[in-house]
Amino acid sequence: MTDRYADILDYIRSIRLVSSHNHHLNDGLYEGIGLRFLLENSYVGWVKMPPDFEDAEAWDGYLKRYGTNSFFRWLFTALEKIYGIPVRPDTVAELDRAVRRAYSDPEHHLRLLREDCRYDAVINERQPHPGDDLGHPELFRPSFRCDCFFSGWLADKPEPNGFFARSLFEREVLSVRDYLDQMRSAIEKKKAEGCVALKVAIAYERPIVFENTDLAAAEKALNNPQASESDVIAFGDVVMHEIAEIAADTGLPLQIHTGTGQYEKTNPIGLLGLIKAHPNTKFHLLHGGFPWVDDTYALLLATPNVWSDTCWIPYLSTHAARDYLLTALEVADTHRLTWGCDTWMPEDSVGALMAMEQVLASTLNGMINDGAIDFSYACYIAKRILSDNAKELFAL
Ligand SMILES: [Zn+2]
Repeated sequence: MTDRYADILDYIRSIRLVSSHNHHLNDGLYEGIGLRFLLENSYVGWVKMPPDFEDAEAWDGYLKRYGTNSFFRWLFTALEKIYGIPVRPDTVAELDRAVRRAYSDPEHHLRLLREDCRYDAVINERQPHPGDDLGHPELFRPSFRCDCFFSGWLADKPEPNGFFARSLFEREVLSVRDYLDQMRSAIEKKKAEGCVALKVAIAYERPIVFENTDLAAAEKALNNPQASESDVIAFGDVVMHEIAEIAADTGLPLQIHTGTGQYEKTNPIGLLGLIKAHPNTKFHLLHGGFPWVDDTYALLLATPNVWSDTCWIPYLSTHAARDYLLTALEVADTHRLTWGCDTWMPEDSVGALMAMEQVLASTLNGMINDGAIDFSYACYIAKRILSDNAKELFAL
């Protein structure tokens, strides 16, 4: 048994990356922020809002209770790395001052991405401004979020972030065919403006099973405030199939959020019919469908037009991510896996990358010890996953 863990980690830290999935915000939203804003707007804040910085006892309880959670572990590791201050009940006030000082420089958030994360390109998806490059087109390559087209069965119904499909249309829509044609024009225009992918995160609102391809069934929902739930689902099914077809025609990879969300039929295998119906579409499935990762193994095995994005998995469960990466490499190949940090707070980006570096180095080291690969092949695999596969997939 040899231990090449440290050597692999050194190699990983020497390469520049393409993050295949992010939600980075506009410059102005980071201006002058402190530790409280950062924590409340990170994944840590999704789990539990932080106590008052002056309340050491509450902080002690907070850290003891949530210290095992992967979001906490890696964000706090990143904070210590960036600001040189460990997260402890007696240091949070000092850390807050350090964060505020750093963010008094408007370039700080971009420096964390370019230097700490070593990103050359970021496939970014920014709501409620789908397709926005945040004014930094050299770094951010937008993925156009298409969720508005699912809620557009009514003209005055926005997607949950407040964006209206009709804002992209050129005329009134009177039929589903007309709706789909205008959707196609809107997507083609986004591609011409620089979008390199399409994104669907509809698992937060409905199951990701898309069975209806009949326009007549979808017609019942269009412009009909009395439409039943099943009419709306039928409408969304048709929209999804058309998006998949447009993705094939434009060559844009179609990113689909899988796994969490509304947790009812949001496991990846529900996509099998859609994927098989569109063999020329590049399906870029996000998060391995965690916690239903076995489903993604099935899709990697069954369909050559599936890529698996490992974004978020090391941040959700570092342990599960090691198993995931190893099994996905074994059932698929080295060219269909990518990684992105999937964050909007840059400290989370740094934490997510540190988690992935550890997962990748330990997985590849285990494969060397198992006799599956040697060190130079391990380096090849790491660079494929962190950079080359995304460059090819998104034609960067
Ligand atoms: Zn995301």
